Amino acid sequence: MRLMAVHAHPDDESSKGAATTARYVAAGTSVMVVSCTGGERGDILNEKLKDDPHILRDIAQVRRDEMKAAQEVLGCEHTWLGFVDSGLPEGDPLPPLPDGCFGLEDIDVTTEALVRVIRAWRPHVMTTYDEKGGYPHPDHIMCHTVSMAAFEAAGDPARYPHAGEPWQPLKIYYNGGWSKDRLEAIHDAMLAEGLESPYAEWLANWKPRRSGRPTTTIACGEFFETRDRALMAHATQVDPDGFWFQVPLEIQTRVWGVEEFEAALSYVEIADGEDDLFAGLGTPAEADALATRTDLELVHDGRVTDAPEPEEAEQESGRAHGDSSDTHTDEDDDADSDSEKADAR
Ligand SMILES: [Zn+2]
Repeated sequence: MRLMAVHAHPDDESSKGAATTARYVAAGTSVMVVSCTGGERGDILNEKLKDDPHILRDIAQVRRDEMKAAQEVLGCEHTWLGFVDSGLPEGDPLPPLPDGCFGLEDIDVTTEALVRVIRAWRPHVMTTYDEKGGYPHPDHIMCHTVSMAAFEAAGDPARYPHAGEPWQPLKIYYNGGWSKDRLEAIHDAMLAEGLESPYAEWLANWKPRRSGRPTTTIACGEFFETRDRALMAHATQVDPDGFWFQVPLEIQTRVWGVEEFEAALSYVEIADGEDDLFAGLGTPAEADALATRTDLELVHDGRVTDAPEPEEAEQESGRAHGDSSDTHTDEDDDADSDSEKADAR
């Protein structure tokens, strides 16, 4: 079976769904990570590498090398979609996005690029971000938009006819990210062990971000160590002594040894308590046959369509500062910084 994980920047594949990737790879499943952008506008977040002249001279090449190292840790395949990082606009009012960036590309151009990769690699299942990007970065929101558009177009012979033979991926999921339940469970376990929880402030400031709920739980705790090594491979983007690595793996695995996903669109039923992204697809030959049929009908639409309350929208944009790496770990931010880091992860 084949799973395609679409991400905005190099390092996102190692912070969102990475243990699931490693689990499926270990089971013999092919996993393709697609990075929409090269992460060229990411800041250097690792203090020890901040003034390294080799890194400053060519951050784009450094990030390609880091991605290669992370890919080797995860054991997956990888391809670049070839668009340019939009950066995370900061300031009030927010500055415009830079010319030529992913966030400003014509949606037909970006969608065709992903349709081409889908038709060539033929995934049975895709993952992407929720409609809010999972993190308020323009490239993450665009990653969602392009993934959904490409999922809907790839099987249609009338759409992008020069981008390969039609192929309909059968399901697309959103990466689940952090829930309040997960945060509380790990926080409580840290306190029970007599350790300081890094999540106290984040929990105290918790705001529900959207109304979607996970449909699918992947047991992958034994691959958290692999996930962390993949994240560390993005050496310029993570502080090895920072926020992400403060909870012992033993506690993470024992208390919340899973990653969660939310079925957005599916051509097969999504059963209650689903524990496999390929559930319901049958054998590889059966799934291949389904993906090339022309009379498929959606049977599950879990997309969240409710518009955010105006107040909520304001908070979202107010929190939209940081950097394009999403593993922002500066210690000097305002009170919202922990929840922002958290959204990123
Ligand atoms: Zn990102």
